Amino acid sequence: MKTIRTDVLIVGGGGAGFRAAIAARQANAETLLVSKGPLARCGASPMAGADLTCHGLGMRQAGFFGEPRDSEEKFFSDIVHQGCFLNDQPLAERFVRDGPQRLIETLEWGCEPYLCDERAIFTSGVGIVDAHLSEARRLGTSFLDDTAVLELIVHDGQVCGAVGLDIRSGEILRFDCHAVVLATGGWHKAYTPVTGSKELTGDGVAMAYRAGAKVANMEFVTFACNVPVWPPVWRGSIVTYAMSLMCGGTLENANRERFLDQYDPETVAIASSTEWNKSFFSFATAREIRAGRGTPHGGVYYVTGDTPWPEFEARALRSYPDWKVKGADFSELGRMLRDGEGVEVAGAAEYFEGGVLVDDRFASSVPGLFAAGECAMSLFGANRVAAATMEMLVSGAIAGTAAGEFAQSHPSSEPPEDRVRTATEAIEAPLRKPSGHGIGHLRHDLQEAASAMLGPVRCGEELEAFLRMLEDARSDRLPNLGLSTTTRSYNKEWIESLEIENLLLVLELSARAALERTESRGVHYREDHPITDNDGWLREIVMSPNRDGVHVEHRPVRVTSLRPPSGTQPYLEMVREMMCAHSDVGGHH
Ligand SMILES: Cc1cc2nc3c(=O)[nH]c(=O)nc-3n(C[C@H](O)[C@H](O)[C@H](O)COP(=O)(O)OP(=O)(O)OC[C@H]3O[C@@H](n4cnc5c(N)ncnc54)[C@H](O)[C@@H]3O)c2cc1C
Repeated sequence: MKTIRTDVLIVGGGGAGFRAAIAARQANAETLLVSKGPLARCGASPMAGADLTCHGLGMRQAGFFGEPRDSEEKFFSDIVHQGCFLNDQPLAERFVRDGPQRLIETLEWGCEPYLCDERAIFTSGVGIVDAHLSEARRLGTSFLDDTAVLELIVHDGQVCGAVGLDIRSGEILRFDCHAVVLATGGWHKAYTPVTGSKELTGDGVAMAYRAGAKVANMEFVTFACNVPVWPPVWRGSIVTYAMSLMCGGTLENANRERFLDQYDPETVAIASSTEWNKSFFSFATAREIRAGRGTPHGGVYYVTGDTPWPEFEARALRSYPDWKVKGADFSELGRMLRDGEGVEVAGAAEYFEGGVLVDDRFASSVPGLFAAGECAMSLFGANRVAAATMEMLVSGAIAGTAAGEFAQSHPSSEPPEDRVRTATEAIEAPLRKPSGHGIGHLRHDLQEAASAMLGPVRCGEELEAFLRMLEDARSDRLPNLGLSTTTRSYNKEWIESLEIENLLLVLELSARAALERTESRGVHYREDHPITDNDGWLREIVMSPNRDGVHVEHRPVRVTSLRPPSGTQPYLEMVREMMCAHSDVGGHH
């Protein structure tokens, strides 16, 4: 076993990880970043559109036109209203305050914008991560790619190392360090269709939880709307989601009824042109499917609606010349839209609001353990509106600085040998089971069940059934899994059999929280509790491991300047009110 020593270990090669590495190096800490996939080409960051949002005055500081009537207060107010008052307000304030500097440096480090509006620049996720990777490299960060960190070691009440796997060689690696920043993103692979990349299996949240850290807000999952479910070649691509924003169009159920007509027209209109589109259209789509009016492959039809075809096509071709998107040919999709057939679409998990509970310095409840980006609890509360790509940079910078300082002021002892051995044995256990059921069926069943029972629309009975299914999977199916090859080098089945345990854990925590929250708010809608309850539920659900299983506690949401409303109201009324509370600037954000 190879031992690697560093001050700060950063786990995750996306935007949050790179920005944390930069900050840790600026704090003079020796820093190693480890990534399960290729650096800057895995995770959600390089797949993002991507936008970097900040308030209009910050846009002006960065040299863009910005909106002069905008202010930090207006941007903050929009974020908190649209997060349905479940935002951690100190973190949301920090997001608003730090955004301009994160934008300015991203441009200085070489990321090129191609468009801007009054509260955002639009660029590519690849552009953002490449700029940050080269800056992290320039500052002397060390890197290891194709390497998974799989277990954290906590000793004397402080994180002191981790155990991982060199995926290329199959060698077990031991990391001795004084602080860890988790930046492992979400758990997109728990759902179908999968919009994010295949490495996103909730490893960071699962490892942190097993190490004793608290997690919060796990019930909230944002589903991108209008994602193709058929044919398989387009499944999970966000092409029709982007098209619906650029070109318009509407949705029809299997009876070819425009089911959005049953909702308040103002709500539909605002949802069509703002970040509410994801939560509202995924919610409306899921309700239609659950009512038995879904299409043959489990979606609804996306159609051009009232937009005349020449206009629709012209708008589409402005962004997708020749119907090509990142090299893929979507001309058949164009034909289907032109001929009125429609494309089968549904909501698909895109962003996870839940994650490791963090304080103002993005420190977890375990000393020496920090979390940033999507694997930390979101500052967007119950519904994300501004850019997650900006969130990853803001949180990465804070977590990296805090970890760098912590590592130097709190040197930890070496990880105890017996703990390293136990972790190693657990990692190698699947190799000792050369025959058994393949992992694909279990993963597929989990994805189908999570999408149906822990999707945009939930109900208590189904959540309980889902939790029972997870328990059965853990007790009956996991022990019977086996590998078809026990080779160590690039053994994807081995990696997947370790990942599936993390998926089971994060799904369980998410389903428990969804069952616990007996109200509807933001992206969490309970059919059996369709009321937003500000008197009872302005609280975060926080979970941690204890001897008997999962310890659940409620933490009142942290408030700085915006007093939450009181009383209860029907979910759709709350949605409409929060949408309309949007300030007079920053249309899309
Ligand atoms: C298709 C898509 C489009 C999106 N578009 C936008 C957009 O336009 N605007 C926006 O604001 N947001 C968008 N988002 C969301 C946004 O991209 C993410 O929230 C953000 O990029 C998360 O960054 P991150 O660094 O936290 O995680 P990620 O970028 O997901 O990176 C996670 C990293 O952790 C690594 N990792 C995971 N497990 C391990 C392990 N065990 N050991 C080592 N490494 C590990 C992964 O390999 C990866 O490198 C989009 C998301 C998706 C899926």
